[in-house]
Amino acid sequence: MTTITKHYINGEYIESHGREVMEIINPTNCQVIGRVTLGDEEDTRRAIAAAKRAFVAFGQTTKEERVSYLRRLHDAVSARVDDLTHAMVEEYGGVAQFSRLIVESGAKAFPAAAKGLEELSMTESWGKTTVTLEPVGVAGLITAWNANSLFICLKLASAVAAGCTVVIKPSEMSSLQTQVMIECVEAAKLPKGVCNVVIGRGGTVGAELVRNPDVAKISFTGSVAVGQSIMRDGATTMKRVTLELGGKSPTILLDDAALEQAIPAALVMAFMNSGQACAAGTRLLVPKSRVAAVRQAIVEAMLHFPVGNPADPRTVVGPMVSQNQYERVQSYIHKGIEEGALILAGGEGHPQGFEAGYFVKPTVFVNVKNDMAIAQEEIFGPVLCVIAYDSEDDAIRIANESKYGLHAAVLGTDLQRARRVASQIRSGRVVINGMTDDPQAPWGGFKFSGVGREYGRYGIEAFLETRAIIES
Ligand code: NAD
Repeated sequence: MTTITKHYINGEYIESHGREVMEIINPTNCQVIGRVTLGDEEDTRRAIAAAKRAFVAFGQTTKEERVSYLRRLHDAVSARVDDLTHAMVEEYGGVAQFSRLIVESGAKAFPAAAKGLEELSMTESWGKTTVTLEPVGVAGLITAWNANSLFICLKLASAVAAGCTVVIKPSEMSSLQTQVMIECVEAAKLPKGVCNVVIGRGGTVGAELVRNPDVAKISFTGSVAVGQSIMRDGATTMKRVTLELGGKSPTILLDDAALEQAIPAALVMAFMNSGQACAAGTRLLVPKSRVAAVRQAIVEAMLHFPVGNPADPRTVVGPMVSQNQYERVQSYIHKGIEEGALILAGGEGHPQGFEAGYFVKPTVFVNVKNDMAIAQEEIFGPVLCVIAYDSEDDAIRIANESKYGLHAAVLGTDLQRARRVASQIRSGRVVINGMTDDPQAPWGGFKFSGVGREYGRYGIEAFLETRAIIES
């Protein structure tokens, strides 16, 4: 049983002013495994004040100094990969192998930011004009629960690279991971006040960050509804915002795709992180001529996506994070049946033998029309919709007929053709022939999937302002 009662402010562990105590529940068995005391507006204001004081000196640091802080953060997080992975399995139900990948990606964010910073020219001059890139100021970093430590690393790496000081408001459902991250920040020995962490609810700690005039920038990962409220409420104090929001990502299977590779790849993208992934490929677009073969291949491949205890290395799909999330997924499976889609795999209720936790059945719907709610709304669970298309143009049209545009995939043998299709998808990222990553490539969405980009140089630019000095 873990008890957390302190926030991390100005380089010290400070007893929470907020008094609300929240239980930490293991979603695998619904057991209470800890308690966390949540911060309030006063805790947040203390953290903002510390970040504001620290910004005076940190905003003036050289590139070289910041690169050395990023290296120290990388060392500190790399040393705690096992602990962060364990915390993600315990409090979130993250599947062990996938959780480790997520945590390792978080560690890699620091060298990626260091490389981005080294490549970024901070000063440009011509004639009597000098343009410099300046840190935007104090930044509020707000994260979601589905990869909390990764989001903290990504945002912190970019902010530190830019010379910003931060107040982190992690998801209140990720306190065990956050505790380890605080220890990493401490081990990296950043100057006092550069990185502050207040654990608390969005409506208190998050809202104070959004409203406080001493916070210049909010970098947010979470739902569209909260992202919209941050944009709206942040306007009062002219906040700069980066919003990483939801998705309903298409996977276009071209008619020359080899199904024995393409279908497992499509299912990995649909069910990664137990389907609780903004980038999950939840719409599989299939040529009409191949629907029967695809159905057969899916049924066979589903055997390789077992539900189970997330700590078991054989498990591919773990529980949902909470009762709310369990019910949300159930309601969409129910809605899909009502809308007339057919269940090829999975369905309503708990998988047999997993009634004690928030487990759902990985579900595949066929005969889905792209205008059904299950094809348009983000479910955030392991539910895949198979949608038939007539031609390449029809596939592109269906892929783009979504309010989201975060991620997409194209699967096919002819690479030239796959690239041509990829170039017509209105998404921040398109992967060809399977899920892959590049920490230097931008991450972020078109349309309702967000505003701005993270990762590498693009992520750093989101924490910078330009200043021109012109001599007469
Ligand atoms: P959420 O929007 O409910 O919460 C996200 C964070 O915002 C939490 O820390 C929460 O406490 C905080 N928050 C809530 N209300 C707030 C307010 N009024 N002001 C400030 N902060 C507030 O989202 P969630 O349920 O934690 O995460 C799931 C969502 O996140 C999904 O929609 C998913 O697609 C999205 N997501 C996007 C990405 C991406 O990179 N684009 C990555 C992961 C998750």
